[in-house]
Amino acid sequence: MASTSRRSTSGSYSSGNVTGEHFCKCGLRALLQVSNSIANPGRKYYACPVRRCGWFRWAGQTF
Ligand SMILES: [Zn+2]
Repeated sequence: MASTSRRSTSGSYSSGNVTGEHFCKCGLRALLQVSNSIANPGRKYYACPVRRCGWFRWAGQTF
């Protein structure tokens, strides 16, 4: 079996990133978007640019 070089999935992609950039699970730079849902109208969030991995995060959230 081929050993899949699985990176440590600790999800620490954004740690130490102070530029406000976020990266989705694809490793792509997440896009800042504005929610138009009924629950959160006008709320900004970051999401996967290709909508492939389903990653998303509310803007302004601190971890
Ligand atoms: Zn993605």
